[in-house]
Amino acid sequence: MNHSVQTKVIQASTCIDPHTGAVNVPLYLSSTFHQFDVDQFGKYDYSRSGNPTREALETAIAELEGGVGGFAFSSGMAAISTAFMLLSQHDHVLISEDVYGGTYRIVSQVLTRFGIEHSFVDTTDLEKVASSIRANTKVIYIETPSNPTLNITDIQEVSKIAKANGCWTFVDNTFMTPVLQRPLALGADLVLHSATKFIAGTSDVIAGLAVAGHDAIAEQLGFLQNAFGGILGVQDAWLVLRGLKTLHVRMKESSQAAANISVFLQEHAKVKRVYYPGLSDHPGAFIHHDQSCSAGAVLSFELADEQAVHRFVSNIRLPVFAVSLGAVESILSYPAKMSHAALGKKERERRGITDGLLRLSVGLEHPDDLIQDLEAALNMITEGSGKH
Ligand SMILES: *Cc1c(COP(=O)(O)O)cnc(C)c1O
Repeated sequence: MNHSVQTKVIQASTCIDPHTGAVNVPLYLSSTFHQFDVDQFGKYDYSRSGNPTREALETAIAELEGGVGGFAFSSGMAAISTAFMLLSQHDHVLISEDVYGGTYRIVSQVLTRFGIEHSFVDTTDLEKVASSIRANTKVIYIETPSNPTLNITDIQEVSKIAKANGCWTFVDNTFMTPVLQRPLALGADLVLHSATKFIAGTSDVIAGLAVAGHDAIAEQLGFLQNAFGGILGVQDAWLVLRGLKTLHVRMKESSQAAANISVFLQEHAKVKRVYYPGLSDHPGAFIHHDQSCSAGAVLSFELADEQAVHRFVSNIRLPVFAVSLGAVESILSYPAKMSHAALGKKERERRGITDGLLRLSVGLEHPDDLIQDLEAALNMITEGSGKH
């Protein structure tokens, strides 16, 4: 029976132990496994290659993304960089220009040392995607919605272009999670996650996940996971699995609150602009609505300038002011000085990451309390700033 994703997150994360009936997978804190037979080894031999606790998480995420193989890594970046090891010297990767900073770094500063080429492309523009493909392009790598201006790339159309050119499509699905968006069903070949964010959900663990859409990638990625060894530890795997249990309800609540907050911010005189794919004036709203179940829990908004940001941040009480996103506590961040500081002012401004831009990851506080807090802080911004 094809259950809804709300049921699936519970089913996938409830791993009844056949020996005891325990409803949660035990912590198999064992690096090695005794072999009962000299000629016939058991399923597990050494925990880098396979561990039952980690496997429970890997099976769960594969099930939720609708893939054939799941892999858990020690961080989102470990998952992403291991996935790039599917490429070889002289291959080319076509990549969204507004990818996560760590992804930008590995592509532009590490892969280049191994002769792997790249082009950063505005992947919201399908013509640009098609015209940037080269004979040696092996992967199109996208992130949608992107960070922090929530640009939307059409997963299905990009996957079609990739297939027509013999390339794979990789999608970083961190902002949406399989509860809101399932790229494999739209034609992608590999899905990546920073499980540090929404999937774990409580800002208490660093973890990464990958899900392969077909056997060829699953086999190679399994080999690379074992070869590089960037596996997720047993206790962290257990924490992520626990996070999965509440993922649906958290995404639903936080997304609804984010939608309300986006409307409130859009109407406030001190806010110049709001970036949220759930707003009808967002350029990617239609495509996003088509490929996802909701606009998600992250939005960005622009104040007049850096001075306005200072006033606002020093008066806000509820969200923590920090890097990261996707937690039960709302998290406010300042991309120009946090996630995107390395870009340089000119490139930042070209991408809309002005000195007035703030990103808000909406948590599980009561939305009315959040709005009240935002309003109080906005009202503390002194005149001379506001709508043009
Ligand atoms: C945080 C993040 C990553 C990196 O994940 P880590 O767990 O911090 O290594 C990758 N992609 C996106 C979209 C992220 O937000």
